[in-house]
Amino acid sequence: LIARVKSAAAGSAVSARNRAIIAGIGDDCCVLRLPAGHEALITTDFSLEGVHFRRDWESAEATGHRCLARGLSDIAAMGGTPLAAFLSLALPPDLRQQWVDGFMRGLLKLAKEFGVGLAGGDTAASRTGVIADIIVVGSAPKGSAVMRSGARPGDSIYVTGRLGAAARRISELASARQRRWPDVLRTALPEPRIKIGERLRQRRLASAMIDVSDGLSTDLSHICEESGVGAEIHADRVPRAQVVGLRQPVDLRFALHGGDDYELLFTAKPSAKIPLGIAGVPVTKVGLITRSKQMVLIAHGGARQTLRPRGWEHFGRRS
Ligand SMILES: [Mg+2]
Repeated sequence: LIARVKSAAAGSAVSARNRAIIAGIGDDCCVLRLPAGHEALITTDFSLEGVHFRRDWESAEATGHRCLARGLSDIAAMGGTPLAAFLSLALPPDLRQQWVDGFMRGLLKLAKEFGVGLAGGDTAASRTGVIADIIVVGSAPKGSAVMRSGARPGDSIYVTGRLGAAARRISELASARQRRWPDVLRTALPEPRIKIGERLRQRRLASAMIDVSDGLSTDLSHICEESGVGAEIHADRVPRAQVVGLRQPVDLRFALHGGDDYELLFTAKPSAKIPLGIAGVPVTKVGLITRSKQMVLIAHGGARQTLRPRGWEHFGRRS
């Protein structure tokens, strides 16, 4: 099993677009070369069976894809460029080889798409479910990484893409009884917004940025905390996902609090010229940063209510 993971990974360590990996799998450490004048960005994310994914709810490819997408999305949220990924994988002894092959296929396909080599990792036996820990190393020119702490009162709040599809799917799966899921539940795999993050960083358009991994309300609260500010969100401006087969976009609660979307949430000075779309993805202004240190949701008619960070609690933790 381990040998197969290694050989699958080894094939990906060298890629045409990425000369960062000087020594990858096969030595005690990976040797990485950062572009001159750049700083390293490093992020780690767990994908735990029963907490972040269920093997009976999606294909192994989708789980592998999302495992790496979580890390790449964090690099995107800083405006960085991903260079290399590292995977530590603990597998139950009775796990079918087919699942592992599918997981690695999904992960490595996404890695290739972004020119990221899998440059190391570890494998072990797990006494519980599958445990995957992905580490992604990226880089950004010195001093240019976009932080969560840069939002100022008066800044506009923007979000890329549309929100809520993943949360709606999970809610449907959790309430369904059948084991074969209807097509409507097939969701597009999240596409890390690397290009958008890079563009915003290069043009210095974003004052603060985060990726929407836990839900708009929760991730916005992180920007507010780190920046020492508050926010107003207009409910009718939040871009809600359109799910295949359904006429209406998803409920507002999925778009506001649903996780696993991996879109970017950023703020920009009022004077910044933010395009309506970047790299083919819509960019929507959803609200304003305020001095009040509170988050407020403004309804269509103008009624205001407190917006609480009620973002995605992974289904294993839900009561
Ligand atoms: Mg993040």
